[in-house]
Parts: sequence; C-alpha cells; structure tokens
Amino acid sequence: MNKKKNVTTAAGAPVKHYEDSQSVGARGPLLLQDYFLHEKLAHFNRERIPERIVHAKGSGAYGTFTVTHDISKYTRAKLFSKIGKETKVFVRFSTVGGEKGSADTERDPRGFAVKFYTEDGNWDLVGNNTPVFFIKDPKKFPDFIHTQKRDPYTNCKSPTMMWDYWSLNPESLHQVLILMSDRGTPVGYRFMNGYGSHTFSLVNDKNERVYVKFHYKTMQGIKTFTDAEAAELKSKDPDFSQRDLVNAIDNGHFPKYALKIQVMTNDQAKTFKWNPFDLTKVWPHADFPLIDVGVIELNENPDNYFAHVEQSAFAPANLVDGIGFSPDKMLQGRILAYPDAHRYRIGVNYDSLPVNKCPYAVNNYHRDGTMRFDGNGGNTPNYRPNSFDTLVEDDKYKGIPYELESNVAGYFDRNENDDDHFTQPGNLFKIMTPEAKANTINNIVGAMSGISGIKKDEIINRQLCHWFRADSQLGMGIAKGLGVEIDPSFLK
Ligand code: NDP
Repeated sequence: MNKKKNVTTAAGAPVKHYEDSQSVGARGPLLLQDYFLHEKLAHFNRERIPERIVHAKGSGAYGTFTVTHDISKYTRAKLFSKIGKETKVFVRFSTVGGEKGSADTERDPRGFAVKFYTEDGNWDLVGNNTPVFFIKDPKKFPDFIHTQKRDPYTNCKSPTMMWDYWSLNPESLHQVLILMSDRGTPVGYRFMNGYGSHTFSLVNDKNERVYVKFHYKTMQGIKTFTDAEAAELKSKDPDFSQRDLVNAIDNGHFPKYALKIQVMTNDQAKTFKWNPFDLTKVWPHADFPLIDVGVIELNENPDNYFAHVEQSAFAPANLVDGIGFSPDKMLQGRILAYPDAHRYRIGVNYDSLPVNKCPYAVNNYHRDGTMRFDGNGGNTPNYRPNSFDTLVEDDKYKGIPYELESNVAGYFDRNENDDDHFTQPGNLFKIMTPEAKANTINNIVGAMSGISGIKKDEIINRQLCHWFRADSQLGMGIAKGLGVEIDPSFLK
C-alpha cells in the first residue's frame, strides 16, 4: 500500500481542514486567517495560461526517432549520423482554428509538431498534415487567421469571412482544396501524413548545402472521415482524436510515421519552374523523389496533460547543426513569431520547462525573468567576456554563407512566377479518384453554401473563377452544386 502523505499548503505546512472553511461559530461568516481557503481559490483562479491563438486544441505523446537510412551525404546533423541511432521525440498534434474546447473532427488542417531532443540541442520541425499553406508571406497571417476565428459582431464562425478572404487571396487555393478534400477530416492523428511544409536546408561535413522538404508518411495508412461522419462526431465525441491517441498508445498500438526527404540542389533551385521557397507550392515527386530517412514511433503517453502537452512550446527557430533555414518567407516570419508567442503565453523561461528543456548542456548568459526555477546559473558569471568561466564559441558550428540574389533591402515585390496559384491544385484534383473528386466537390459546395450577406454573389463568383482556373471539371461541379449557371462560352 502507498505510504500516507500529509496534504499541505503550497509552502508545505500540513493542512488539517482541507474542505471545511473556518467560520465564526458554526453558522458565522468566514475568517481571513483560514489562509488555505484563499490559497486554494487563488490558485484555481490562475489555472489557465493563455490558450494558443492558433493550434489551441492538441494532443501529444513521447516517442523515438530511429534512423533507417544513411543521409550523411546531405547532412552532418548528429541525429542522422548512423543507421539505428535513436533520438527521443515529443510530438504535438492539433487542430488549428478552434478554441481549446473545440471538436477534434472539425474540417481544419492538423498541426504536426515534432521536437527532437538531440545532443546538439532541440530540433523542432513544426509542420502540418498538409505540404502547403494558405499564404506565402507572414505579413498576411493575422488577417488570414482573423477570418478563421469569430466574427467581431456575431461572435460566430463566418463562412462569409473565410471565403471572402480566400477568394481575394487566390494563393490559398492549393491549401483550400486539400482542406476541402477528405484529407481535411482525418480519422484522428494516427492515420494522416505530416509535412515540415517549409523548404529547409541541409549542410554536410564538407559544408555543402542542399535544400530539403520533410515528409512524414503515416505507417497506419491514410484514413479519413466523410463530411457527414466528421460532423456527427463533433457532438458524439468532440475529443475523438485525443481519446484515440491515448488509447492506442495505452494498448500498445504505437503509431509510426516514416520520415522522408526531398532534396533540391542550389542549381535546381535557380531553374525550378516554381519558386522553391513558396509555401503554397509542393515539389513534384517525379522531379524530386522521396528519400527514406527513418521512423518515428510514439510509445509513451505523458503522465500529465498540462505539464507536457499544454506547456510544450515548439519553434521553427530551433534548428541544429547540419539543418538550416531557407529564404522561405513564411519560415523566416515564424522564426520570430513562435518564440515570441511562447514568451507571452508561458513566460520568458519556457525553454526550462521539462517538456521543452534540452536534456543536454544548455550554457549561456540569459538570467532571471519570471518563474526562473532552474538555479539561474548559480554563482557563475552572467556576462561575457569574463575571466572566470570556460564557455567557448565552437568554430565548427559556424554557418556557411548564403548566396543572395539581391542586395537591395526593402524588396517588396512578388517573385515572377508567384502568380500561378492554379496549376498545382489542378494537378491534385486530376490525381484524385472519382469518389475523392465527388466528395471534394460536395464538401466545397457545403462550405460555400454558408456564404451570406450583400456580398454573397460577388464572393461566390470570384471563388468560382479560381476553381475553374485550377480545373474546369472542378469548377463545373461546384457551380452546379451551388446552382450557379455557367455560360458555356466561358469554358472556351
Ligand atoms: P504524386 O502523384 O507523386 O503525389 C501525389 C501526392 O498527393 C501523394 O503524396 C498523396 O499522398 C497526396 N494526396 C493524395 N490525395 C491528397 C489530398 N486529397 N490532399 C493532399 N494530398 C493528397 O504527384 P505530385 O508530386 O506531382 O503532386 C501532385 C499534387 O499532389 C500536387 O500538386 C499536390 O497538390 C499534391 N501533393 C504533392 C505532394 C508533394 O510533395 N509532391 C505532397 C502531398 C500532396 P499519399 O501518397 O500519402 O496518399
């Protein structure tokens, strides 16, 4: 039997009356001196930390990444150094637009964030279950997210806001098509792929750089809900994905995902028909085949949701030697935005929390700040240069220079080929099975039917033009479903 322990105040003093408040006589008012009552209520009042503005509802698990194939010719990153090498990981999956209490089966992209605890520091690959995104410039992000959240007047989600924005930003079309396909309602988190989405770079031990895209292919196979099934589950089991992940791991059905990469040389990047750093585009597999790397297995449920999942903080800024950034504008924006969000949501010392902490050496001169609980560097110097400690900068971690196309700061124009928002969504629609095509069209018709108000026709017509530009069968199907008559001469 477990040894009995005293219940105590936060300061460790035993509490004799845990539930009954001290009063003046049996029926009198309460006394201020019953401090534990105040402590208990005050702590309760502060239980919530700000929820993430996006990706608020999530599920997480620990696991292992194991290298199965040698990619050392592309990268010197230590976690990939030899076949069989294992690295501990923490993965957080999420929906994007809903609040913390929203339903897991909402039509939404899914976050797929992986923290690799490597000996060279933590590497966070903070991606989604889609290879692309709605926008290609981080300056657009707050406006875009406002349209996915609640209308400032009705405080309800608004299909009119969403489609108004999407139709005015056709670069979203690729991601919107994926979202509207059945991949927009995956069966939990085990049966979907993940993507690093951005273009990153890899550097090998000869200081040679290539560009890279990361893909996680589910080894459980893809499974999706139809729109009707997902809608039904919203009320029947709003925590479907959370329950599914916890139960699977508890029952020994450890989810596995195969990590693969696509590689592009610098010369290929210069001549590739699309901007390889454009987050609304993929690199076709036929041109850039998938290369096997390893397997992630999730095999441990965190013992406390808040401590591990809610307090987990991922940042695309966290890279390790051998893996680098690219000029992908969205990636560049996220380098700044993610740590900034964590400092606001959790506090400046969020990196010291157990789930976020690098298990290997962390040495620097950052000190103090709210909730500094790790010794704060003890009595070691808090400045540099100094004559006392032995911390050094290691030349072998020096980056290699980037070759820039322009030396003009303040370059706001789009890249030349950035206006082709239609070819890749069209390619995706063409490879869908007849059933997937029909479901996608139905899902789009259902979603666009929610557009209302005085701008309804304008928004529908503008978005229909985008669908037609991607694929005329897709455009016709949606127009028919929405009851919009199309002049046949339009198709010529
Ligand atoms: P491929 O035929 O080689 O690849 C098609 C890819 O599409 C596969 O990875 C498949 O995933 C994925 N896929 C199938 N249905 C959907 C869907 N409804 N939503 C999202 N992905 C889906 O063709 P290409 O590489 O030439 O790409 C053609 C189109 O496929 C692209 O324009 C893009 O829209 C989409 N795509 C491409 C990816 C890439 O990195 N090249 C990645 C994902 C999508 P799976 O094998 O797991 O079934």
